[in-house]
Amino acid sequence: MDLNTVIGYRLARTREDLALAPGERILAGGTWLYSEPQPEVTGLVDLTGMGWPSLELPRQGGLRIAATCTLAELVALPRQPRWPAQPLFEQCVNALLASFKVWNVATVGGNVCRSFAAAGMVALAVALDGVAQVWRPDGTDYRLPVAELVTGNGTNRLAAGEVLRAVELPEHALRASTGFRKIALAELGRSGAVLTGRVDPDGSAVFAVTAATAAPTVLRYRALPGADELRHDVLGAPGYYTDPLGTSDWRRGVSAVLAEEIRQELEAA
Ligand SMILES: Cc1cc2nc3c(=O)[nH]c(=O)nc-3n(C[C@H](O)[C@H](O)[C@H](O)COP(=O)(O)OP(=O)(O)OC[C@H]3O[C@@H](n4cnc5c(N)ncnc54)[C@H](O)[C@@H]3O)c2cc1C
Repeated sequence: MDLNTVIGYRLARTREDLALAPGERILAGGTWLYSEPQPEVTGLVDLTGMGWPSLELPRQGGLRIAATCTLAELVALPRQPRWPAQPLFEQCVNALLASFKVWNVATVGGNVCRSFAAAGMVALAVALDGVAQVWRPDGTDYRLPVAELVTGNGTNRLAAGEVLRAVELPEHALRASTGFRKIALAELGRSGAVLTGRVDPDGSAVFAVTAATAAPTVLRYRALPGADELRHDVLGAPGYYTDPLGTSDWRRGVSAVLAEEIRQELEAA
């Protein structure tokens, strides 16, 4: 779509270039930005000139994913045998129903910052205790779990002018056994519920609900919970919502069923 209010474009190469003038917006892959009218936008500041390495393996462990890493690059990361959780990358990218053209330009950061309930990269980050590194316009940074950054279906805590620099996945979560389920009302529809579960090397367990609740739901346990406890917690979570992709009751019900499937899978493993 032509954004016919846009009269300026800048390719950012330095942090200073990311200072936004009134009417300017950050451009990443552009797959959402160009998909609907943006009448208030008069300029675009393109992040792809920043030259951030898409995927970094810090010495202390874990994975640092640049905000500009495309979905295709994330999926193409060679398999790391010490990370049983790595299949979640592709599962979560596939939770976002998009063609290969979108995969090749849409970015992890764009998906997180758009913050739709059905954001596959939010599902991935929440499943694996992902932490957002955010650049403030004043030159300082802060870190916040992605589960707390996203506050609702399409809303987040980013203040005006703040830029998501990276999502960091910790080593302990990448070493976990994981399970994944997704359901959509239509075969080719946007996710109605995405459930993930993991058991860390220390035996603790984490279950997460996205797409079904407006903001991510994270449930933590010292050990894999029993069926009744998990069902109670999933059914009791706040934020199940109704939209054309599913009613809140349906989302709540299927989330409990899918969480139990994951629990059984993790128990058997
Ligand atoms: C065919 C198709 C299917 C889709 N399916 C889904 C789906 O199933 N689930 C879902 O959640 N979404 C879906 N989307 C929307 C989706 O969120 C995005 O298209 C994609 O993830 C956005 O990434 P992008 O890099 O293209 O971001 P852009 O479109 O460039 O930007 C998206 C928004 O994030 C801001 N932004 C981008 N990067 C940063 C950053 N680093 N720091 C601060 N702000 C930033 C931009 O200013 C803009 O407001 C779909 C879109 C298409 C075209």
